[in-house]
Amino acid sequence: EAIELVLHKEGQWEGQFTQIHRTGRSMIVASRQVLVHMGPRQAAVIVEMNRDETERAFLVQEHIEAVVREAALQETAQQISAFVGMVSHELKTPLTAIKGNLQLAQLHLARLQQQIASDDVMKQALITIQYSLDRADRQINIQNRLVNDLIDLSRIQTDQLNVQRTQCDLVQIVLAVLEDQRIIMPTRLIRWKSSIIQAPVLADADRIGQVINNYLSNALKYSSVDTPVDVCLEQEEAMIRVSVRDEGSGISETEQQLIWKRFYRVEESEKKNGSGVSLGLGLYISRALIEQQGGQVGVESIPTYGSTFWFTLPSISSE
Ligand code: ADP
Repeated sequence: EAIELVLHKEGQWEGQFTQIHRTGRSMIVASRQVLVHMGPRQAAVIVEMNRDETERAFLVQEHIEAVVREAALQETAQQISAFVGMVSHELKTPLTAIKGNLQLAQLHLARLQQQIASDDVMKQALITIQYSLDRADRQINIQNRLVNDLIDLSRIQTDQLNVQRTQCDLVQIVLAVLEDQRIIMPTRLIRWKSSIIQAPVLADADRIGQVINNYLSNALKYSSVDTPVDVCLEQEEAMIRVSVRDEGSGISETEQQLIWKRFYRVEESEKKNGSGVSLGLGLYISRALIEQQGGQVGVESIPTYGSTFWFTLPSISSE
């Protein structure tokens, strides 16, 4: 009816529609119709030229799908290769250092074997060996962390990030991480800013320690050595909130949303110290670990003034 209306008004119509073929299959038809006036006493005739476009439409659809698929594959492949490139590069840095230090240790040991002359020489050589091995140990720890992050990443993506929740004291977990970091970075001022002495939670102590450790090592990494880092624990109604505050470079409002995404690193964020090795996975993993245990994560920051990273966990009485 609609086509006829156009025909009577315009004299012609052109378009596409779906028709059912006599065999029952549906077909896409490209149609051109013209209204021909035969004479004053004769009825007008509609001349209709139809072309079966089913095959062509199908091919066009298939082509579009192939192009979209190809683009998606290319993007994924690009992301994977960029990621693999970055990972291997990051893995190579500590490996090279380990190799160098071990070679140095071997050299000193070989010399020691040749000249066990006096005790003084011996002592000095042992100190050098010890130093080299300590350095190697630190680099191995970095490598371990990177590899662990990659393992956690794949666990998150395959829904296999299992946490073992038991009743534990969040204050003890935080203080243990604080002590470890104070030993690793004895020159930094890390202050415990809470009067709460006990905070029972149902959580995976190791995994929560991992989150605090990530917040704390980031705070130390992205602030200068002469500034303090404060760690706080507060009770907020049914939740316990742990926060780590630094006076570092801070993060812009836009970046505050993005840093929780995997592999995301703020381009211009300046590392004041630390290993210089990172994959941009720490916050992504922290978020997954906290959310899986019923809590939330977040950051408050003013660029150039510093940042406060926090997470909450349900306190045990509210469970
Ligand atoms: P990374 O291993 O790169 O530190 P994270 O996921 O822990 O990965 O952090 C993502 C990015 O967020 C970092 O690259 C850094 O740019 C930014 N960031 C994290 N913590 C801080 C902080 N305390 N101060 C400033 N920037 C930070």
